[in-house]
Amino acid sequence: MNLRERLKDKQRIVIKVGSSSLVHEETGALNLTKLEILVREISDIRNMGKEVILVSSGAIAVGAAAAKLAERPGTTEEKQACAAIGQGRLMMIYQKLFMEYNQLAAQILMTKNTVLDNLSRHHALNTFRELLHMGAIPIVNENDTVATYEIHFGDNDSLSAIVAALVDADLLILLSDIDGLYTDDPNQNPHAEFIDIVTELDQHLLEMGKESSGSSVGTGGMASKLQAAQLAGAAGVDMVIANGEDFHVIHKIIQGRNHGTLFISRPEKEFYLIDYLEQL
Ligand code: GLU
Repeated sequence: MNLRERLKDKQRIVIKVGSSSLVHEETGALNLTKLEILVREISDIRNMGKEVILVSSGAIAVGAAAAKLAERPGTTEEKQACAAIGQGRLMMIYQKLFMEYNQLAAQILMTKNTVLDNLSRHHALNTFRELLHMGAIPIVNENDTVATYEIHFGDNDSLSAIVAALVDADLLILLSDIDGLYTDDPNQNPHAEFIDIVTELDQHLLEMGKESSGSSVGTGGMASKLQAAQLAGAAGVDMVIANGEDFHVIHKIIQGRNHGTLFISRPEKEFYLIDYLEQL
């Protein structure tokens, strides 16, 4: 059977969009045209009767653009202040656009402690379940204004895999500024070949992940995406890495068409989210 066919049956889908896919590179301000397409795609998945959770970056980038900072925020305080400004703006736009499609959008901000602590993880899961039950679209980000180094997820690639594992999603889609996984860095090696499907994420593939993200906004490179694939796979969540340049790719992916790299999950018999979290 074509392994892509299984994507048609996914019911609980987590979609992660990176900052570089949401803002204009030159100014850091939100790309409203792209956001409209993203919101329409997600609303349509809801209309198909499926559940969607959006993990959206962009708080820091949007805050920095709003505050008209001359340079990219450098210190922790600067980033946290920008996130405080940007997260609100980001949600304001999401709420407005989702309302146009008569969708309920909800905000969930988390830190690593939310998942490490048994009681708060339990409550977070209950909140996700209740929101999905209400037919809402949870929009998740790291709580950047209070998350300092010790309690940092690191990047939203990891966060989205953790959320997918927590809520028992069946598909995680990571949309970024890369088409998927190549045998080498395609920007440096013209012979690098695209990898369509990964059925086993072995050490060789993990080492191929390069640390650089290639963009001036956002944090996650290929290494963090492969780490996310490892976590998601162990939790039984299939994952697709695709280019977020055109968000129409979302419905194409869930129609089982050939877009991005598909990572087939290999669920671990005894999967403990906490063990994975401690490695981050
Ligand atoms: N949480 C950060 C933000 O919203 C982004 C982190 C990431 O892109 O990995 O600005």
